[in-house]
Amino acid sequence: MSVEAILLGTAQDGGVPQAGCTCELCLAARADATLRQWTACLGLVDRAAGQSWLIDATPDFREQLHALHEWAPDCTLAGIALTHAHVGHYAGLIHLGREAAHMQGLPVYTSARMAGFLRQNAPWSQLVALGNVELRILTPDEEVQLGPRLWLTPLVVPHRDEFSDTLAYVVRGPGRRLFYCPDIDGWDRWSRDVGQVVGGVDVALLDGTFYSADELPGRDVAEIPHPLATDTAERLAGAQGEVHLIHLNHSNPLLRPGAERAWLAERGIGVGATGMCWRLDEPGAG
Ligand SMILES: [Zn+2]
Ligand SMILES: [Zn+2]
Ligand SMILES: [Zn+2]
Repeated sequence: MSVEAILLGTAQDGGVPQAGCTCELCLAARADATLRQWTACLGLVDRAAGQSWLIDATPDFREQLHALHEWAPDCTLAGIALTHAHVGHYAGLIHLGREAAHMQGLPVYTSARMAGFLRQNAPWSQLVALGNVELRILTPDEEVQLGPRLWLTPLVVPHRDEFSDTLAYVVRGPGRRLFYCPDIDGWDRWSRDVGQVVGGVDVALLDGTFYSADELPGRDVAEIPHPLATDTAERLAGAQGEVHLIHLNHSNPLLRPGAERAWLAERGIGVGATGMCWRLDEPGAG
């Protein structure tokens, strides 16, 4: 029985189409439902244990939880690990409360600062007060065991941390590792070497928010820094494991096939798509 990770969304926080947007990609996604993208989210499944987990609770939580259940019908949601307090990554927690699922003691793994934010601010504080969620505080760089065959190591990454700090995660199964990093301000601002981190895992899903710096006319990209996809691809060209870019902004040409995707592919870098999945146990272990 396998341990798996499944990508449940690949868009930046605002999703595709983004509310109120009339850019070409958003108009196309409104006209053709197959072009719509849920916000970035990773599902984890241990079929033998009958358990599943989510990394991040996005505004598309309802659909993503359903997709996870369809993927692994015999598995029950056993916890959620959060990266940070930007809306695309935690706002889906609203579905756990009294007005909706009214979960009982669902473990929610967060940094200490993120836990404080949830405890101190409504409506999240009510989830804690009513016991819908049980906050489990993570210590940076310290691995925790999620289930019998899944472990998680939080790594602090630099990001515009208005309400919380920001975590990326190394997910470890019995045989393989996956690195999940949907948001970071820039690889050079990080105390770690991204090439080394990626070299230490089998699969890396990385912040690919923007393809190029001129993607957002009228917005100052310096206020919302991210590594550019082209920069990430050049750094990681020829990396041993699988690398896919996720967390794509609605303006990002990588959302559809074309010259930009082909350029990445020449460097061995892929683009994440909802439904991609990876075995984290020994390949072929059954
Ligand atoms: Zn984000
Ligand atoms: Zn748009
Ligand atoms: Zn963010």
